[in-house]
Amino acid sequence: MTETPPIISLRRVAKSFGSVTAVEEVSIDIGAGEFFSLLGPSGCGKTTLLRMLAGFEDVSSGEIVIDGEPMADVPPNLRPVNMVFQNYAIFPHLSVADNIAYGLRRAKISRAQRQRLVDEMLELVRLPGYGARRAHELSGGQRQRIALARALILRPKVLLLDEPLGALDKQLREQMQGELRRLQRAVGITFVFVTHDQEEALTLSDRIAVMSKGHVLQVDTPARLYEAPKTRSVAGFVGSMNFLDARVLAREGDRARLEIEALGVRDVRADHIPTHGRVCVAVRPENIALHAKDPGNAALPGRVEARSYLGERSHWHVRVPGMAEPLAVSTPNGVLQAGAHAAEGAPVWVRLGDEALILLGAE
Ligand code: ATP
Repeated sequence: MTETPPIISLRRVAKSFGSVTAVEEVSIDIGAGEFFSLLGPSGCGKTTLLRMLAGFEDVSSGEIVIDGEPMADVPPNLRPVNMVFQNYAIFPHLSVADNIAYGLRRAKISRAQRQRLVDEMLELVRLPGYGARRAHELSGGQRQRIALARALILRPKVLLLDEPLGALDKQLREQMQGELRRLQRAVGITFVFVTHDQEEALTLSDRIAVMSKGHVLQVDTPARLYEAPKTRSVAGFVGSMNFLDARVLAREGDRARLEIEALGVRDVRADHIPTHGRVCVAVRPENIALHAKDPGNAALPGRVEARSYLGERSHWHVRVPGMAEPLAVSTPNGVLQAGAHAAEGAPVWVRLGDEALILLGAE
């Protein structure tokens, strides 16, 4: 569900290349002004979906509607969209100003007005005064800002971005993420953003479609995807997760009674699960309490198998009798935290409260 009327509707859109099915019957509505991300591993069909929105690929079946108009017979240059690529495709033989004004060349616009629009875009991407420079006089981050300015100057209804920060190093990438979000808010244009980087998608997006093998697995806000993934694939792809086998003993309303690996019988919230049979319970590492002494309260004894110190947090692997896999636990290291200081091999106790248990539905 979008909160605003959809500007893009994908209706059972599929794409095959010969015998390869790149996208399988995807239906999504994207709201006007949304920052919407397509997230998934390499080869899952993200770029193909974006290229179909741009009109660079035909759909094999289904329909794409943008701003109320079916796109089947609309060529790329007449669609109300523009696209930004990973390899900041700006022209090396043109100045920054001419690069930004490139899209205006066919519009009948006076020189003075063109200059004003270019200056406005340079302000928007925080590079005022850079108009006379050439591409080789810019850093990677600056080039990508110019590519964004060029794509935005025609004020498209939708901007399609294909891993636009993929070529930047980590620090610059994080800085540009903030810039992109600010820019999107400032212009109010719908962004459809392709990435395989889950942190990037969580940071930037209003909503995310998680894709795998041509399918959309779940469309949700970052918080819902992280806190309430519906299936094991989504839970495993967004953040790190522990999975425990379980069996449904009974179900009443939105609660289910489960017999869970190593934890025994627990009551959990269950709004989308089968009424019987084997299921899977997921637990985020940061939702597990770790204690150096037995705190009582049904804590489970275990042993530290490994600890990695990451500055802000520590990650632990704790071997718990009755669990098939070691439990991943993440604890904060700040001075306000009591912090566990157990060494590798030391005995510890872990507590997995009912509120930490996420019951997953079938794939
Ligand atoms: P990446 O993050 O690596 O770019 P992606 O999720 O964007 O991956 P796509 O590029 O959409 O994935 O590709 C989806 C599938 O379709 C892949 O199996 C790919 O090999 C195949 N594919 C894409 N374009 C073509 C093409 N022109 N001809 C044949 N197969 C293609």
